[in-house]
Amino acid sequence: MARVYNFSAGPSMLPLSVLEKARDQMLDYEGSGQSVCEMSHRSKVFDKIIKDAEALFREIMNIPDNYKVLFLQGGASTQFAAIPLNFMNKNRKADFIVTGVWGKKAFQEAQKYGAARKVASSEDKVYSYIPKLTRADFDPEADYVYYCMNNTIYGTKFPYIPDVGDIPLIADISSCFLSEPIDVTKFAMLYGGAQKNIAPAGLTVCIIREDMLGNARDITPTMLNYKTMADADSLYNTPPCFTIYMCKLVLEWIKEQGGLEAVKANNVKKAQLLYDYFDSSRMFKNIVNKEDRSLMNIPFVTGDEELDKKFIKESTEAGFINLKGHRTTGGMRASVYNAMPIEGVEKLIEFMKAFEAANS
Ligand SMILES: *Cc1c(COP(=O)(O)O)cnc(C)c1O
Repeated sequence: MARVYNFSAGPSMLPLSVLEKARDQMLDYEGSGQSVCEMSHRSKVFDKIIKDAEALFREIMNIPDNYKVLFLQGGASTQFAAIPLNFMNKNRKADFIVTGVWGKKAFQEAQKYGAARKVASSEDKVYSYIPKLTRADFDPEADYVYYCMNNTIYGTKFPYIPDVGDIPLIADISSCFLSEPIDVTKFAMLYGGAQKNIAPAGLTVCIIREDMLGNARDITPTMLNYKTMADADSLYNTPPCFTIYMCKLVLEWIKEQGGLEAVKANNVKKAQLLYDYFDSSRMFKNIVNKEDRSLMNIPFVTGDEELDKKFIKESTEAGFINLKGHRTTGGMRASVYNAMPIEGVEKLIEFMKAFEAANS
């Protein structure tokens, strides 16, 4: 079996042992005589799967009891509308920090529902840094403050949690979910699509403080009202059953690794290897502000588009796939989520060194 090293930004690699377990359980899940793909979402067997997944989330992320953990569909992008519909409900104002395309999309969507204000943006320098903000930058009347914690496309990550005082803070953590510990208590809501670091595509996990629920706009579609889903323990309608099962396997794997501290240590090691190489290479460069570098998504360029193309072609042939940068930025990007083994990073660096030697 020849498996490639997949540096995709998402959907992305899953741990090999998780895939093997899913394969072994594919035809007969724990003696039930059925696959999880075929199972009723109202069955006892599935109920245990979704409850276990939630319990593991709570344990691994240290989520307090006054937060709901919801398993939803529609991707992170659907939440761009659901968040204002549910939470832009008192003064109909919200503050946005725009540090990339995903934050910008969320900001633009929210403008349909109220006075969304762009507090700061790093668009002036192609989103290559994170603006520094203090409590005074935010409108105390805002119903919430919104930001994207890790910018998947540009390879930046907030090195701090914005101090917003008593204003509810909401963050899109799609591409840094479960990559390191997060102090959940600082947030009114954390959410993300599963396909970056948690499971196959199809699942969106939302962690919401209970006091936020119950004030959605009247026009909010039932399916986008977080209270509907919270009251029904994510089983108002058919949830993405198989993806929730895969999520449970990944959470068990994270526990086996030693939890989020251990996962973080491994992620720091991988990212450091790559950044050290880019800082020393004469050919490849990472052009992000150093303090704001992401642990998960690492863009790089040669400065020569033809050479970038050659590198992408040759690296793909060598089994390092999906290194092409986002269509809006060009260049390359290595996404090194939890499941990327350190050997994958070491071998990529060896390959880059050889490419650099052969092409300079
Ligand atoms: C991928 C991504 C999204 C979009 O996710 P979908 O599930 O495809 O809607 C949003 N935000 C961030 C930070 C992402 O990385």
